[in-house]
Amino acid sequence: QIRANGSNHKSLRSIMAAPGVKGKRVTSISKDGLTNLIQSIISKKQEQKEPFYVLDLGMVVSLMEKWNRSLPNVRPFYAVKCNPEPALLGTLAALGAGFDCASRAEIEAVLALGVSPDRIVYANPCKAESHIKYAASVGVNLTTFDSLDEIEKIRRWHPTCALLLRLKAPDDSGARCPLGPKYGALPEEVTPLLQACHAAHLTVAGISFHVGSGASHSGAYHGAIEAAKAAFDTGTKLGMPRMRILNVGGGFTMDSKFDDAAITINQALETYFANEPGLIVISEPGRFFAESAFTLAVNIIGKRVRGNLREYWINDGIYGSMNCLLYDHATVTATPLAWLSNRTNPTCRGTKTYPSTVFGPTCDALDTVLTGHQLPELQVNDWLVFPNMGAYTASAGSNFNGFKTSAISIQLACSNVS
Ligand code: PLP
Repeated sequence: QIRANGSNHKSLRSIMAAPGVKGKRVTSISKDGLTNLIQSIISKKQEQKEPFYVLDLGMVVSLMEKWNRSLPNVRPFYAVKCNPEPALLGTLAALGAGFDCASRAEIEAVLALGVSPDRIVYANPCKAESHIKYAASVGVNLTTFDSLDEIEKIRRWHPTCALLLRLKAPDDSGARCPLGPKYGALPEEVTPLLQACHAAHLTVAGISFHVGSGASHSGAYHGAIEAAKAAFDTGTKLGMPRMRILNVGGGFTMDSKFDDAAITINQALETYFANEPGLIVISEPGRFFAESAFTLAVNIIGKRVRGNLREYWINDGIYGSMNCLLYDHATVTATPLAWLSNRTNPTCRGTKTYPSTVFGPTCDALDTVLTGHQLPELQVNDWLVFPNMGAYTASAGSNFNGFKTSAISIQLACSNVS
C-alpha cells in the first residue's frame, strides 16, 4: 500500500486522495484499461497530437511487492538516472525505497520530494568537487569511490562521509551495458585503496559493485559477492573497523532473469555473509522499477509508399525517447492503437501487413526507429503504442531539431482493489 506521507509529491498525493482510491490497494492497470486511457487522452488532445507517456503507478507498486518477496533483505535504492520522473520517484519514496543519485541535480530532485538525505547513496565513484561540497552541505553522507584521487577529494571536502569501495565486478561480459571498463577497483587495488582511506581517517562503511546494466548471467552476482566478502576481510586485517554495508548494485531486469538473480544473491549472502551480524544489504536497481511502468504513445506525422514498403514518420525518435536504441542497446516494439482497441481480435490476425520503416521526426537519417516491422496500412494521424519505454529513454533524450524530449507529457494511471 502506498503511504502518500512518504513523499510530498503533488500528483501522487492527489491520486492517493482521489475518491475511490483513498485507503485502497493500488494495482497495475489492465491492458484494456490502458488502451481506454490512451484513447481518452487522445480524444481530449484532438489537435495537439504530441507524444505522451502513461506511467502506471500500480505497476510500480506491484514491482515493489515482487522485489520485497524475492529479496526481502535487500533494500532498493532506485537509480534516479534511469528515469527521474518525479511521480515515479515520489511513488518509490512512498513505498519506502532509498535513492541512488549520481549528481547534484539528482540529489536535489530527491530531496525536493521531502526524502531525508540518509535515504540517498551518492553512487558515482568520480564526483566533481563542487558536487561533493553540495552533498556535504545537505547531509548526504554515503558515497562510492574507486581511486586514490577520489579519496583525496572526499578527505578535503566531505571528511565525515562514509565510503563504499566499488569493486570491478568479476564477470559482466553478458550485460547489455557493461560498466566494468569504466568503474571499479581491480583486486590488486583493494588493499592500497583501503590503506589510503585508513591513513586519511575516512570511514569505509562497505563495498559496492555493479555487474552491468541489463545483466544476463546471474552468476555474476555470486562472484561479486564473494569478492566483496574478501574485501571486507582485507579491511579487517588492515585494522579498520568491520564494514557493515554491502551494495549489490543494479542490473536487474523485469523478466525471469530477475528470479535467477534473486536466488543467486540470496544464496551468495547465505554462503559468504551468514555470520555477519548487523550487515545492511542495499542495491541500486533502475531498469527493474522503470522499464515496464511506462508506455509511450506517438502520432504518425508522415507517410510514403514505395512499392510494397511503407514508410512512416512519427513525432518521437532516436534523439528523443528512442535514444535507448543507441545508448541502451534496446529493442523497441510498436503496435497500432487501433489493434489494441480491437477487443475481439487484439493482434488483428488476418489483417494484411506490410514491411514498414518507422522514422523519427528529425532530419537525420540515423533517426530510424524500426525497419522491416510488419504493420498494417496506417495513415497520417494514426497512433502507435510502444510498451516498456521507461528505462533510459526520456532521461537521455535531447532537444535536437527542436523536438523536445523534456516536453513529452506524462499521464498517471493505476487501478485499485479494495
Ligand atoms: N548504479 C549505478 C552506479 C549505475 O551506473 C547504474 C546504471 O548505469 C545503476 C545503478 C542502475 O542500473 P540498472 O538500471 O541496470 O539497474
